[in-house]
Amino acid sequence: MNRLCIVVPCYNEEEALAYTNKELISIIQRLVEAGKVGRGSFILYVDDGSRDKTWNIIEEYHKESPFVYGLKLAKNSGHQNALTAGLLAAKDYGDMIVSIDADLQDDVSVIEEMVDKFIQGYDIVYGVRKKRDTDTFFKRTTALGFYRLMRAMKIDIVYNHADYRLMSKRAVEVFSRYEERNLFLRGIIPLIGYRSTVVTYDRKLRIAGESKYPFSKMLSMAFEGITSFSIQPILMITNLGLLIVLFSILAAIYGFYSYLSGRVVAGWTSIILSIWFIGGVQLLSVGLIGTYIGKIYIEVKQRPRYNVETNNLLEKQHEES
Ligand code: UDP
Ligand code: MG
Repeated sequence: MNRLCIVVPCYNEEEALAYTNKELISIIQRLVEAGKVGRGSFILYVDDGSRDKTWNIIEEYHKESPFVYGLKLAKNSGHQNALTAGLLAAKDYGDMIVSIDADLQDDVSVIEEMVDKFIQGYDIVYGVRKKRDTDTFFKRTTALGFYRLMRAMKIDIVYNHADYRLMSKRAVEVFSRYEERNLFLRGIIPLIGYRSTVVTYDRKLRIAGESKYPFSKMLSMAFEGITSFSIQPILMITNLGLLIVLFSILAAIYGFYSYLSGRVVAGWTSIILSIWFIGGVQLLSVGLIGTYIGKIYIEVKQRPRYNVETNNLLEKQHEES
């Protein structure tokens, strides 16, 4: 029977853990009783270098319940790294891995739906928020702007999906081959390419404690997302440079014409034209150099180039001959 592991990154979550633990245990119990997941299913809390009692609480819960396990990071490493640590550890023990935030803002009742989708053969199930009415107007508009921007930068991400998702063991194994240090999971998971689907839910308010994602962190996450996935900004600079050079050539023709007609102040044409032309050439050159840096940047990531879904046919043929 397939084992489920629920990975929960926790940073100073002592206030939220009691409720979260109770809810998650009861979900696992229910799924085990329904025969949808194996008895060895469990919760894996990842303590991301919390400064409060989070780890002590996790240890306590581990003693109390056979479903609870924990992993402690030596220092605060950030949500995405904590999540990755949890996923990579969980894949050795679980067949399907659900990741969810410790504050249970994401509706846990859809975990069952995610498991159903896994049973139907999906490798990745994205939790997608139906509406954003629990968010402030500010967060709603910035979030929408973020998704639009990512799309404009040609980064394939799922709208209104944060890090609430189910992944099969083999999907996590592919993910583990993305060895880049600047992590943005929401951008990487769609690159895996296995069969995926979505389940929708309503997001609630944080149950206890306060958000560990202030606006400054959100902003740096968005910047991280774009610069870790796209060299589009460099291409934009190159295009702008090209545009300015073309413009200055047109302006040169016009300037030359005005000069001949004698209607301009002496020296104006040559000064303005050289400013525009040199400016354009410089921008174009920076863009060109940037393009090479962009390529270096893509190379150093050493991302896997492809992911083989099955090689059954190849194997069969060789066994037969
Ligand atoms: N988190 C973490 N390390 C950090 C910051 C946050 O592991 O450095 C965890 C946090 O405990 C929570 C999840 O990441 O489980 C999401 O954080 P939060 O709920 O504060 O973000 P929000 O929902 O406000 O965007
Ligand atoms: Mg939250």
